[in-house]
Amino acid sequence: MSRSLGQLTVTSPAPGGGPGAGPGPHLPLFVLGTEADEHSERGVSCPGELPSPSDPALVRRAEQARDELGDRAFILGHHYQRDEVIGFADVTGDSFKLAREAAARPAAEYVVFCGVHFMAESADILTSDAQQVVLPDLAAGCSMADMATYTQVEECWEALEDLGVADDVVPVTYMNSSADIKAFTGRHGGTVCTSSNAQRALSWALGKGSKVLFLPDQHLGRNTAVLELGMDLDDCVVWNPHRPGGGLDAEALRKATMILWRGHCSVHGRFTADNVTEIRRRIPGVNVLVHPECVHEVVTAADQIGSTEKIIATIEQAPAGSAWAVGTELNLVQRLAAAHQDKTVVYLDKTVCYCSTMNRIDLPHLVWALESLASGQVVNRITVDPLTATQARAALDQMLALP
Ligand code: SF4
Repeated sequence: MSRSLGQLTVTSPAPGGGPGAGPGPHLPLFVLGTEADEHSERGVSCPGELPSPSDPALVRRAEQARDELGDRAFILGHHYQRDEVIGFADVTGDSFKLAREAAARPAAEYVVFCGVHFMAESADILTSDAQQVVLPDLAAGCSMADMATYTQVEECWEALEDLGVADDVVPVTYMNSSADIKAFTGRHGGTVCTSSNAQRALSWALGKGSKVLFLPDQHLGRNTAVLELGMDLDDCVVWNPHRPGGGLDAEALRKATMILWRGHCSVHGRFTADNVTEIRRRIPGVNVLVHPECVHEVVTAADQIGSTEKIIATIEQAPAGSAWAVGTELNLVQRLAAAHQDKTVVYLDKTVCYCSTMNRIDLPHLVWALESLASGQVVNRITVDPLTATQARAALDQMLALP
């Protein structure tokens, strides 16, 4: 890796890439706090005077600011957040549930989103103009969402047009994408999907066109296509935005049903089939439950696959005495283990891994955001421009209308 003050250039291999992975791209990154890239989630600045993490009054300060704000503020907490933050959430959930919860509370002038940047964007798109969405730390991005930039996706689409296949392609983007990518999808008649409704989204798209461009998580796209729609792995190709022509020849693109974007989640992409083998050896009779963002070899080795909400429901409904190894973000697994002590709930990997960007929202940032709002200063507001919001909203509305 070479480093200058303003930018980093990363040349290390991309982890968790599965099929299509290889030597890593030259990916420019901004050093946190030095510059901002308005067209992606990379390198956003992190302004402000934060309380010290060792301030013993942090909890009291958060409670006091929360009380002062009353119904004017609504705090959303994603399932992968730290305990110290989730304790202040008015509601917890996955990204789409949280955005809808915010929209359902128009009296809340401030929506404090304890999640990552694309989630706050979605909340801004779905809430009224009178509501302001605040992300307590602007550096809380999502590495997966960053793997599909607007320019890269436009280049891909132009290549499909040059090949004469774009009219057959329906774009489907995972909720975990920037507002720009959701807008691209809406503009081209596609839909957003979540990990809960990806199968319905793909079925709908393939009733409309003969191919899907699936953004940005190749694993959710592949796992859904193969395990839920019965496609072959050969029906899927991976578009690498860092190679000319996506690294694919015309014949491969013409033949493919699923054109998967070469993106992945840095948390779920870490789990391996060896983790599954090892945990079965260590805990005989264990049920392996993983998120569909895991690589194909992991989900095929697991006993059950489920979205974050489904993972929570599965553990809640499991009989006392049962044992579960869960392949998803560690904060959630730890909370599930603590809440269900009549069951064995363990993390699938021996090496612990939090979502590092999600974890940037900590108690000092929450206190800083709440105290600022209570004093009348709106900080770290996330806004999506009206045209992008309208086009992204079209793709979100299409998801809500999925049969
Ligand atoms: S867990 Fe993965 S997909 Fe979710 S915010 Fe973190 S990097 Fe992004």
